Amino acid sequence: MPHDRVWIFDLDDTLHNASAHIFPHINRAMTQYLMTHLDVNEESANRLRMEYWQRYGATLHGLMRHHGTDPHHFLHHTHQFPQLAQMVVRSRGLRTTLQRLQGEKVVYTNAPMAYAEQVLRLLNIRDLFTGVFSIESSRFQPKPAMSGFVLMLNKMKLQASRCIMVEDNLPALKTAKRLGMKTVYINPRNKRPSYVDARLVSVLGLAAIKNL
Ligand SMILES: [Mg+2]
Repeated sequence: MPHDRVWIFDLDDTLHNASAHIFPHINRAMTQYLMTHLDVNEESANRLRMEYWQRYGATLHGLMRHHGTDPHHFLHHTHQFPQLAQMVVRSRGLRTTLQRLQGEKVVYTNAPMAYAEQVLRLLNIRDLFTGVFSIESSRFQPKPAMSGFVLMLNKMKLQASRCIMVEDNLPALKTAKRLGMKTVYINPRNKRPSYVDARLVSVLGLAAIKNL
């Protein structure tokens, strides 16, 4: 594999298991945020959350668009983790796997910067990445939006044809492929769609990838 490759990693459910403890916590906080600030009941709050997530890739996008929500206020109040160290699920061998990959590595996440930095430090891998591109960096245009990807490539001075996107979210991989990137899908079960170059059960499987 050429050494001038750039690995672009998603964070949640790619570099660590966020579904176990972190996502349920964020989901509860988001529902609570909608109930408080939009003055709706729990059922409506959950319905709106799901609707915006499906339509825009992020609840926040829908809130900004339809309710004029201040993104910084929302992110601050929905990403409070008194015990984040206990919630992060760290896979053994992650650091070694990443260290062995040739080429530059960056993180591209729909999560806020403060949270992403904290999780990467808890995973003991922050020093392996040359940059982190967050939802704030994308001016609140979450993956899979093409505009967010283009902004990320420009800001990080990356050429799409040199990049490999490693992600658990298929729509994001579809955008990556349209831009000319290689795509690696992290998923233990689903089949590999045509725009995915490789599927791995876990990010640890990157160690065994020879050709992309
Ligand atoms: Mg993810």
